[in-house]
Amino acid sequence: MPAWLPPLLSLAASIVFAAVLVVETLNFRHTAARAGDDAAMLEHAFDLCKCAAGLLGACAVASIVFLARRLKRRLATVAAENEQMRQLEQFRRDFVADVTHEIRTPLTGIMGAVEMLKDHPERLSAQEREALMDVVVSQSGRLNRLALDILSLSRLDARRDSGKLDFAPDDLKVAVENVHAAFVPAAKLKQIELKLPHADSVTVPCDISLIEQAIANLVENAIRYSDSPTVELSLASLPAKAIIAVTDHGHGIAKKHQKRIFERFYRVDKSRAQSGTGLGLAIVKHIAHLHGGEAAIADTPGGGATFTLTLPR
Ligand code: ADP
Repeated sequence: MPAWLPPLLSLAASIVFAAVLVVETLNFRHTAARAGDDAAMLEHAFDLCKCAAGLLGACAVASIVFLARRLKRRLATVAAENEQMRQLEQFRRDFVADVTHEIRTPLTGIMGAVEMLKDHPERLSAQEREALMDVVVSQSGRLNRLALDILSLSRLDARRDSGKLDFAPDDLKVAVENVHAAFVPAAKLKQIELKLPHADSVTVPCDISLIEQAIANLVENAIRYSDSPTVELSLASLPAKAIIAVTDHGHGIAKKHQKRIFERFYRVDKSRAQSGTGLGLAIVKHIAHLHGGEAAIADTPGGGATFTLTLPR
């Protein structure tokens, strides 16, 4: 029932009630004056009271139903808001716990190395000192990457919440070519051939630097983790969407990991992924969602993993 119907019914009933009251009063006066009949007057008065009570009752029921429904809706909204607040609070707690855990590992490494360098320099050979300095440099780099990735995620969240998504049309082909050119040297260092088959221009409304960041995260992962001799970067254009794919032919990713791989801080092989932050794919997913698109993973036929970034045109 629409929200305006109960008060409207109530109003209509009140008008009918007032009209009936007027008519009955006039009728009552007229009859009483003409007949001087007490019994007829009493009967009319009784009918009038019954009519008034019935209409007032109908109005009261309509109003009570209306108020009860409104109250129920309000209670449901408050319950939903409370649940949302609870989930947000839980998310905040988990995030702080995750970040603290992620920060502790490199910090422990740095503190241990610095303490040894400071407290017992005489016991250390030049080679050991060098190794400890390497620990400090690599773990500081990891902390720095973690800070940058957390900042990226929080900027994406803030942008989504602000609703400022006035993207200008841009060519995805340029983004794909830029990322390809940037990663060819890194791929060569690992004896990986980074392929980019010819693709036509595809213009979509987007923030092109964010799209480049997302593609770069996918290509970097394929080079770093897949153990694939070739990695292929491709761009396809469909009537309603554009699909950027990064395909490798490496060891692939088990289905149980695929389900959770876009979660913050999720890593498949923790020992191999020490240098990563576990946030790269979460950033890709956020960038896709900010554009109204999707990030997905599938098995490459014949082995390996294919990551796709789908954007609406
Ligand atoms: P990280 O910053 O650790 O690289 P990501 O969110 O980018 O975090 O990736 C999550 C995990 O997914 C990685 O730690 C890695 O174990 C796995 N992964 C990502 N891409 C691939 C790939 N192409 N092949 C195999 N494993 C991958």
